[in-house]
Amino acid sequence: MIYLDHNATTPVAPAVLEAMEPFWRGHFVNPSSVCLAARPVRRALAEAREAAAGLLDCEPEELIFTSGGTEALNAAIHAVTVLQPERRHFIMGSTEHEAVRGPLAWLERSQGYEVTRLAVDGEGLLDVAALAAAIRPGRTAGIALMWANNETGVLHPVEAAAAVAAAHGIPLITDAVQAAGKMPLSLRESGVQFAAFSGHKFQAPKGIGLLYVQRHTAFQPWMHGGGQENRRRAGTEHVVGAVGLGAAARLALEAQRGGVAGPGALRDAFEREVLRRIPGSHRNGSPQRRVDNTSSLRFEGCQAEGLLLLLDQRGICASAGSACHAGSLDPSPVLTAMGLDAAAARSTLRFSLARSTTAEEMAKALEALEQAVGKFRSLVA
Ligand code: PLP
Repeated sequence: MIYLDHNATTPVAPAVLEAMEPFWRGHFVNPSSVCLAARPVRRALAEAREAAAGLLDCEPEELIFTSGGTEALNAAIHAVTVLQPERRHFIMGSTEHEAVRGPLAWLERSQGYEVTRLAVDGEGLLDVAALAAAIRPGRTAGIALMWANNETGVLHPVEAAAAVAAAHGIPLITDAVQAAGKMPLSLRESGVQFAAFSGHKFQAPKGIGLLYVQRHTAFQPWMHGGGQENRRRAGTEHVVGAVGLGAAARLALEAQRGGVAGPGALRDAFEREVLRRIPGSHRNGSPQRRVDNTSSLRFEGCQAEGLLLLLDQRGICASAGSACHAGSLDPSPVLTAMGLDAAAARSTLRFSLARSTTAEEMAKALEALEQAVGKFRSLVA
């Protein structure tokens, strides 16, 4: 199989598996236990947190291990709202992931919140001036703005948005799930108060993630129980997952520091050839301001589900957009927010590459895609 769906999830790196191994076996002791055998487990947890802080450029104490990106985002939104119950307005970008759309829609539907969804332009880009204009002084509780979009890879101006938010004393929550490991990040410099991460998007296992809470930012946990994670996330820690996330963070940081090239050149060459060889093909999203592994392409007269089956038969695994949206009959809200009509949104495929993706794989994917589009069109003609 040629796997081009790394934005949905990534394979666990061999070095990550190796780092986790001892914690499935000998080092099984509860990190909160008083016995001596708990020491290496506690140390491993601390080292994993330090490694993650190294990748994200923040203090280890600012990171809380969670079950993933969804939990981290829900926890941040919860904290922001319960700490300011009198503020009942939220702002979000209109291309946010379900993990932000869901909790904010719930606040709107069942808690009487007002939610402003900031428009994006045809390339998926957002205007910080529109964000500033949407703020309701004294009433806006928080702003949720993703760093990199999962369907198109398009980047939002998170630092500039954080500066605007800070001028009004409003916390900014960023979903950085698709940015981590793909581009250098400095949470210290970013000005954001909360950021969410997911291990399985950068070669760690599923079921582990992080919530960054800037150290001067108030926090209120949503789960109550034991005093783990410095009283901010109750429940026995997922030690094996955390160790895996730490190892994956080390790998990503080494690649960044070592100047290991990302898949951008391969992605760009693939897109150029697709647009040249397949009539009626188009790219979605800003070609300049996006992460270097994601390609969102649409094909006139086609439907993504059919194309994906044809690609699958040819050994290519891609997706129609976000994995969470798979199986839904609704067109992607990300693409419709960018102005695409339902048919255009439904004709979109997402190819997401990794550093390990090869030119040979992309050549095969191109050939398979050309055949799949041709076959689909001949079947519906
Ligand atoms: N945010 C974005 C942008 C994502 O792509 C995903 C996963 O698809 C999530 C949040 C949710 O992360 P998790 O799967 O760890 O809950």
